[in-house]
Amino acid sequence: MNLELSEEQAAARRLAEDFVDREIAPHAAAWDRAERVDRGIVKRLGEVGFLGLTVPEEYGGSGGDHLTYALVTEELGRGDSAVRGIVSVSLGLVAKTVAAWGSEEQKRRWLPPLTSGEAIGCFGLTEPGTGSDAGNLTTRAVRDGDSYVVDGSKMFITNGTWADVVLLFARTGDAPGHKGVSAFLVPTDTPGLERREIHGKLGLRGQATAELVLQDVRVPADALLAPEGKGFSVAMSALAKGRMSVAAGCVGIAQAALDAAVGYATEREQFGRTIAHHQLVQELITDIAVDVDAARLLTWRVADLIDRGEPFATEASKAKLFASEAAVRAANSALQVFGGYGYIDEYPVGKLLRDARVMTLYEGTSQIQKLLIGRALTGVSAF
Ligand SMILES: Cc1cc2nc3c(=O)[nH]c(=O)nc-3n(C[C@H](O)[C@H](O)[C@H](O)COP(=O)(O)OP(=O)(O)OC[C@H]3O[C@@H](n4cnc5c(N)ncnc54)[C@H](O)[C@@H]3O)c2cc1C
Repeated sequence: MNLELSEEQAAARRLAEDFVDREIAPHAAAWDRAERVDRGIVKRLGEVGFLGLTVPEEYGGSGGDHLTYALVTEELGRGDSAVRGIVSVSLGLVAKTVAAWGSEEQKRRWLPPLTSGEAIGCFGLTEPGTGSDAGNLTTRAVRDGDSYVVDGSKMFITNGTWADVVLLFARTGDAPGHKGVSAFLVPTDTPGLERREIHGKLGLRGQATAELVLQDVRVPADALLAPEGKGFSVAMSALAKGRMSVAAGCVGIAQAALDAAVGYATEREQFGRTIAHHQLVQELITDIAVDVDAARLLTWRVADLIDRGEPFATEASKAKLFASEAAVRAANSALQVFGGYGYIDEYPVGKLLRDARVMTLYEGTSQIQKLLIGRALTGVSAF
């Protein structure tokens, strides 16, 4: 087994590292306080090719494999999870899903603007009443001649107020549970679609999170992505790959926590020497470092499986479960290393902890990942 990166992968990682250090990290605290990242960053991410990774070049993408995508995503997560999330949703959940499931016309219409950063996508699955139990969503799309009329609402939608297009999941027909779900590509300026920004998030404050309310939203029949009734498969395939992206972002958070903790511990003095000399501080740092490596290796394994065309969904759940919990532990330990200063906004570790906390919740909570892994191991579904 060879864990050495190819020249292209190493170059992409260096490019991402440099981009993050120049264009993202210096602004992350200010964007967090302003509760808004500079939207110009999306265009720059597009210019450097980070919004088109793994998408075929003939549709405006930058190609590349999933390990490259994971490497870039880790760097973005190291710089600012708010920005990482914009990419993971617009590229990871929307553009990649259009590339995988879309008609030729849908690919030509949506992929060039999404991969260049001219347009942003959002993923509309969760509803106020259905989060973990997404298969029982209630938003309804009723066929009317050459169109569908959609009514319902979506909750906690990342990029919601910014997005130009929503990959929307709605119930068509009478089939119960997930069998009745279909996927649609709906431009967000369609009459009847209202977007309400959600304020007061614990973390990811620079990101636009919204509730979408749909009343008599008329979409043409060719907005349907994949055949009617296949929507839940579309959503699950998007989320399986999305979990690798969340895991990679979490590795970035844990790495940032490690860098910050080592930097502080080797400068701050107590009892006449730097706190790095105190063994219990070394323990905090060592535990973060082991978590970083373990989470990274689990994430790379998923990327490798995807790139080799092997089944990867259970490994993606394991990586997402471990890396998200590890990111919370790492940020919390780094805050401990910073002592009281860690609790103050001026230092980076508080933001890392706030941003990390949501990772165990979205794209399937830790409990849901455990049920998915348990089902794969035992053949018994606990859902
Ligand atoms: C900042 C943010 C951004 C998000 N972005 C998006 C987005 O872009 N698009 C989108 O569609 N959604 C998005 N979400 C929604 C997210 O995916 C859901 O919050 C998540 O799936 C959990 O659903 P819920 O919040 O309704 O919690 P619930 O499903 O109500 O769960 C509450 C608790 O019960 C537990 N639980 C539920 N069912 C079981 C079970 N069977 N066994 C054991 N425990 C269980 C859960 O693990 C959790 O601890 C986002 C959420 C947040 C906070």
